[in-house]
Amino acid sequence: MVKRAKAIVVDPKLCKGCHICISVCPHGVLKESEVVDNRGFFLPRVIDIEACKVCKLCEMECPDFAISVMEIDD
Ligand code: SF4
Ligand code: SF4
Repeated sequence: MVKRAKAIVVDPKLCKGCHICISVCPHGVLKESEVVDNRGFFLPRVIDIEACKVCKLCEMECPDFAISVMEIDD
């Protein structure tokens, strides 16, 4: 069965905009925000949640535990 994500959440307090999550995602789900936050960081944003396979590479590689992927429970 193909896994699908119901939500991908970035914690704006923990994320420091390093973009490792964007780099490691094999499916182009994430992209750098065009808007800078109040700390001067460009946080990742979800551009294609349908493409997410819930591999959780982004979660595993994030050094700040700032991104969470929630799977759809069928
Ligand atoms: S890897 Fe983590 S800290 Fe870096 S941009 Fe992604 S969510 Fe933010
Ligand atoms: S779980 Fe995998 S496919 Fe989904 S956003 Fe993270 S790295 Fe990309």
